[in-house]
Amino acid sequence: AAPDPQAGAAVKATDRAHVFHSWSAQELIDPLAVAGAEGSYFWDYEGNRYLDFASGLVFTNIGYQHPKVVAAIQEQAGKLATFAPAFALEARSEAARLIAERTPGDLDKIFFTNGGAEAVENAIRMARVHTGRPKVLSAYRSYHGATTTAINLTGDPRRWASDSGAAGVVRFWAPFLYRSPFYSSTEQEECARALDHLESVIAHEGPGTIAAVILETVPGTAGIMVPPPGYLAGVRELCDRHGIVFVADEVMAGFGRTGRWFATEHFDVVPDLLTFAKGVNSGYVPLGGVAISGAIADTFARRPYPGGLTYSGHPLACAAAVATIELMAEEGIVEQAAHLGDAVLGPGLRELAARHPSVGEVRGLGAFWAVELVRDRETREPLVPYNATGEANAPMAAFAAACRKNGLWPFVNMNRTHAVPPLTTSEAEAKEGLAALDAALAVADEHTV
Ligand code: PLP
Repeated sequence: AAPDPQAGAAVKATDRAHVFHSWSAQELIDPLAVAGAEGSYFWDYEGNRYLDFASGLVFTNIGYQHPKVVAAIQEQAGKLATFAPAFALEARSEAARLIAERTPGDLDKIFFTNGGAEAVENAIRMARVHTGRPKVLSAYRSYHGATTTAINLTGDPRRWASDSGAAGVVRFWAPFLYRSPFYSSTEQEECARALDHLESVIAHEGPGTIAAVILETVPGTAGIMVPPPGYLAGVRELCDRHGIVFVADEVMAGFGRTGRWFATEHFDVVPDLLTFAKGVNSGYVPLGGVAISGAIADTFARRPYPGGLTYSGHPLACAAAVATIELMAEEGIVEQAAHLGDAVLGPGLRELAARHPSVGEVRGLGAFWAVELVRDRETREPLVPYNATGEANAPMAAFAAACRKNGLWPFVNMNRTHAVPPLTTSEAEAKEGLAALDAALAVADEHTV
């Protein structure tokens, strides 16, 4: 469609009058009015087009407006637009079957929610009822959602304002060699020390008081820290030893993002519960859920599960999931994500790191990459301080503005940018994104020592 700045201004004015936005000081934001989107791109009313290297909030794994999913939603709307959760419905049964076919091990029962935080809430509820224990262990440098339990489990500053201090949460450090909490110098050392630390936390908290350990298989928003080989298997072993439920949060990492259907496949571990959302249907209709092991499903075989949602397994969301999973399988989109990482994003980002002093490290896999920006490569001092705002955050704001000026919509968190485009992004599009990052990194370089 032709640019229409007037229409954009009207959309924006009404937004500013009535929409209350997430995580924001309402008068300090300036949301872009979006006119449309397709594939890996979206555009505004002024005629500016952006390559979406953030996949929205890392959820449009199949890109925007995939015709097969749009058609499936339209078809389902014509057939049965909504229905209550206590009935057996074709779209819901089929979505559960397709998900259970792909989740690891015996995680064969699916509880549907409307998104990731509700999936985490319900996984923790299941673990507590199953074990009869109160506490949950979660990692610093994590994000699990913004409802009460999920935000309390979250290990980033977004928790602080909502920390109830009463959610039975104990936090520990997970491995992250670049900023090692354990002063390690090799991956093996980091892995061994992180496992010793977790073992010690469990021993001192009292193993019999701990219902669950929750971890993002590959932590996402906190920095895409791919765990060292053996770490997740070690966590699995500690959980087995103490009868603790292992919850893998795959809300961001799941459904192809890492180049496998689930990131657990890279590490050969089977959790007891796996939470998903986002990529399950690329967010075309809100959907999340928990995949449940046989042992935990058995707990609720003859005893009611004490939880539910009006829209659990909504037909429109489930029909979108069925179409999404089917097309991902037919079109080889998970393999495409692996290839995008191996052939373009990984080598391309490493090449940028070699040329730009502001890049401290690049890491990731599949279509899931983090670029750690630093003021000083030697000391690894971040480009901006932890949780910086306003003036202190100016170098990152300037970097992000330079990306957008070059037609790239970046994902930015603290001193990092993440390259997390749709898995369907072509090699040529990804290279275009890397070129825009290259230009924006020159701006970040100006802030190095
Ligand atoms: N868990 C992880 C790992 C996430 O990345 C997110 C969202 O980014 C959530 C949970 C929360 O999901 P939602 O925003 O759908 O509630």
